[in-house]
Parts: sequence; structure tokens; C-alpha cells
Amino acid sequence: MSKKFDVVVIGGGPGGYVAAIRAAQLGLNTACIDKWIGKEGKGVFGGTCLNVGCIPSKALLDTSHKYEEAKHDFDLHGISTGEVTVDIAKMLARKDQIVKNLTMGVATLFKANGVTGLEGVGKVLAGKKVEYTPHGGEAELIEAEHIIIATGSVPFNIPPAPLTEDIIVDSTGALEFTSVPEKLGVIGAGVIGLELGSVWMRLGAKVTVLEAQDKFLHVADSAVSKEAQKLFTKQGMDIRLGARVTGSEVKDGKVTVTFQEGGEEKSETFDKLIVAVGRRPFTEGLLAADCGVNLDERGFIHVDDSCQTDAPGIWAIGDVVRGPMLAHKASEEGVMVAERIHGHKAQMNYDVIPSVIYTSPEIAWVGKTEDQLKAEGEPYNVGMFPFAANGRAMAGNQTDGFVKIVAHAETDRILGAHIVGPNAGDLCQQVVVAMEFGSSAEDIGMMVFAHPTVSEAVHEAALAVNNAAIHKANRRPKK
Ligand code: FAD
Ligand code: AMP
Repeated sequence: MSKKFDVVVIGGGPGGYVAAIRAAQLGLNTACIDKWIGKEGKGVFGGTCLNVGCIPSKALLDTSHKYEEAKHDFDLHGISTGEVTVDIAKMLARKDQIVKNLTMGVATLFKANGVTGLEGVGKVLAGKKVEYTPHGGEAELIEAEHIIIATGSVPFNIPPAPLTEDIIVDSTGALEFTSVPEKLGVIGAGVIGLELGSVWMRLGAKVTVLEAQDKFLHVADSAVSKEAQKLFTKQGMDIRLGARVTGSEVKDGKVTVTFQEGGEEKSETFDKLIVAVGRRPFTEGLLAADCGVNLDERGFIHVDDSCQTDAPGIWAIGDVVRGPMLAHKASEEGVMVAERIHGHKAQMNYDVIPSVIYTSPEIAWVGKTEDQLKAEGEPYNVGMFPFAANGRAMAGNQTDGFVKIVAHAETDRILGAHIVGPNAGDLCQQVVVAMEFGSSAEDIGMMVFAHPTVSEAVHEAALAVNNAAIHKANRRPKK
């Protein structure tokens, strides 16, 4: 007799494991299948995010940030150290331990909530049946009232730069360099390319980023992308815009990359090359032809606003469906779907999803950019406040960047926030909370912010929307 569950989740990343936990909390008999094999050769839950994404990249960003501070910033404070060195093996071991603790944490949460964790491959069959093949075992059939697909994404590969064992690598390989490359090439100036490029640059690599687009960080607000480009360039990152990679050749332990830049063919030789040109939804071997789930023209599973696929009772969430490829977007969709299965009318606000780039300084934004509002013909006001005028930022030598808030010109409702600077991710979250409550810029202006905090830059930017900032001159004094 086949096993039967109320909910079977396929994929145990931040979309799938969160969906499974929430479904179990709501009293649904839930299983979560994941095929990931961890570094110790055993099945683990946590997906891309915990194993090779958000968490290990932040662990390396943290180590490299501390190293850079010790090497370059301590002197400013009058602190002298001996020679500062970094033990790469120890850095990688620390990262691996954090990954292990977190993935074990998911298994513990499954136990605590009564989720059945199944290690192996899942396939969606017709009639809401799932074929489950345990690692090294025989396929078995599982019946489900509801199926949630959360199979995530994998890195894009591009024909001009096929991956090799250890010279041309994707983001996963870039988390494992055993020494600091002297010259590092990065294809793609997206979030992942900038974060991993920053890690190795801080540790001493000479980093060149080749980006096909003419505009740096084209998805960000123009003021943010201009400031970020200026700051990364000042840090020593060689950012080549309008540079489309057309080929690569590995020879004598190095890689020579050819690219088109300004109508000319150019080439550069690197010790390592990271290919960070984006990610694609992963559905290989997942869907039986007659299961009723369809893909869209870009290979994502087709879903409606509430993550329902074209097959009743089958849902899909996270990187495998439309929308930004972000762990928190995947998790919130997971909660929404679990609650909908339970009968609630949960909805997710896709207009207020924050994006953060964990470089130094951090970059974060939420809502509409000024360029988008212009294009939509929406009347808006802008308030900006530089960290150079914030006392706490000065005390910490973190004065680069600004907070920019855009609000509707007639209603004053906050439409977006765009931040480059210290703790930009956490500051942006303050605006996320405000936006979820439909706050106006004046509302934030009337709140009390602790002094001295970098948060005061959010307060001042909100005040500046209506020309009422205190610690900078306002452009148009209020009558
Ligand atoms: P995934 O995390 O990809 O999980 C999918 C899971 O499904 C995997 O475990 C896979 O093994 C499993 N699976 C697939 N097919 C099957 C099958 N047929 N049977 C069983 N199991 C299957 N996002 C952020 O929000 N913040 C960040 O700072 C951030 N940093 C990142 C850094 C890097 C280097 C990378 C690569 C990504 C980063 N991301 C970040 C993106 C984030 O990791 C993804 O958005 C997130 O993991 C998506 O979650 P998911 O649950 O949809 O899929
Ligand atoms: P993201 O999708 O945010 O991870 O960013 C990936 C980046 O890689 C995008 O900005 C693309 O323009 C860039 N990209 C894609 N293909 C190439 C290529 N062949 N050469 C250089 N950059 C590329």
C-alpha cells in the first residue's frame, strides 16, 4: 500500500522547508522530499540557500570584511597589529561548520513539528501522486492531497565559458577556492558576482568584472547604481561595462577570456574565473508529461498570484516560479501556500519585497525606483540623506552612501527606498515595515529614532521628502 500525506513538498530549500513546517504547524500530515547530498555524503535539507547560497556566501563576506578592517581600518583608530594574515582553510572550515549547524537545524525543526523528511528524488505524477526514489533505493509511490513544488534553481552556464574542475567555476566553486587567486575574473555584475568578487578582492585578489550591460546594477535605482559603481571602483574593482564574454581558453593553469567591449575584441588572463550570469529554474526529471503542470516560455513553472499551478491541488513556490530569486520571497510563498491549503485566504504582497547586496557598503532597496516612477508618469517627491551627515556613521568611519526615499507627490505614501551604506539591509527593512502599513513619509518623519544610530538617516530622508530634514540643507524650503 502506498504512503499517503495531506501535503508532499518536493524540495527542501527555504521555500520548501518553510512550507512544510507551516503546513505541519497547521495540523497537516506533511512530508518534504529533498535530493541534496551534503559535504559529508549524506542527505541534507536547506537547499541552495543554506548549502551553497545565502549562508556560506555571507560567512565568507564576514571573514573577508574583518580581514580587510584589520588590515586597513584599525590604523585609523590608532590600533596597531602585527602582520595580518588569513588562514583560508580555517575560513572555509568555519563556513562549513555554519552550514552544517543550519542544515542540522532544519532536520531538528522537522522533528519538532512532525514533518516527515524524505531524502531522495521526487517526481510529480498524474492524479496528485509523487514518485519518491530514496538515495540508493527503489522508487515508491506516495499519494498527496496537495503537492508543493519547491525545486529551486541552478546557475546558468554560458557556452563561451564552460565550467572546468577548478579554474572556471560557478558560485558554488567560488565558495571553495583553497588560496586567494592573484587575478580573478568575474562574468556578470549581478548580486552574486559582486558579493563573491568582493570576498576575494578583500582577501587580496585583483578583480575584474565583465558585464554585458552598459549600466551598472541596471535593476537598482540610478542614484544607487552610480554610487555603488563609484565605491567599488574606489575599492579597486575593475568594472568593465558593455563587455560581453565571447570565449575562454584554459592553458597552463590560467584562463584567457575574450570579450567584446566598445566594438573591439579584447582579452584578459586570470588565475580563476567565476561565471555569475544568473540562475535558471530547476525542473529536470520533475514532471510526468501528463501531470498537468505547465512551464512558461522561460522554463518557470506557471502559477497564478497565489502560487497555484495549472493542475488543481499542485502548487509551486520560490526560484522555480516567476518573481525575484530570493530566499525570503521563497519562504513567504511557502507560508502563503501552506495557509491557503489549510483554508486561509493568505496573500503575499509582491510589491514590497526587499533586495539586499551584502557588499561593503551594503546596498538595499524596496519598492519602485525613481526611473520606474518616471516611466509610469507617477508624480513623486524624493528625500535623500547622506551618511556623511550622520553622527553614528562618522563615529564608525562608514560615511559612504545615502538613504533615498521616494513618496507619492499627492498622498505622500512611500513608494520606495534605495540605500547604499552601513547596515543598508536592516535600514531598508524599517521602510518595508512602514510600507506594509501604508505609511507616508511624514509618518516616518514623526517617529522617534534613537540617537546616535545610522537609522537616523532613514528618519532624515523621510523628512527630506517634504523638505524638513534637520541635519542637511533642504532643496526647497517649506513655506
Ligand atoms: P533552493 O534553495 O534552490 O532549493 C531547492 C531544493 O530542491 C534543493 O535542495 C534541491 O536539492 C531540491 N530538489 C530539486 N529538484 C528535486 C527533486 N526532483 N526531488 C527532490 N529534491 C529536489 N537569496 C537571498 O534572499 N539572500 C541572499 O543573500 C542570497 N545569496 C545568495 C548567494 C548565492 C551564492 C546564491 C547561489 C544564491 C543566493 N540567494 C540569496 C538566492 C537563494 O539562495 C535562493 O533564492 C533560494 O535558495 C531559493 O529557494 P528555493 O527553496 O526556491 O530553492
Ligand atoms: P544576475 O542575473 O543579477 O545574477 O546578473 C547576471 C549578470 O550577468 C547580468 O547583469 C547579465 O547582463 C550578465 N551577463 C550575462 N551573460 C553575460 C556575458 N556573456 N558576458 C558578460 N556578462 C554577462
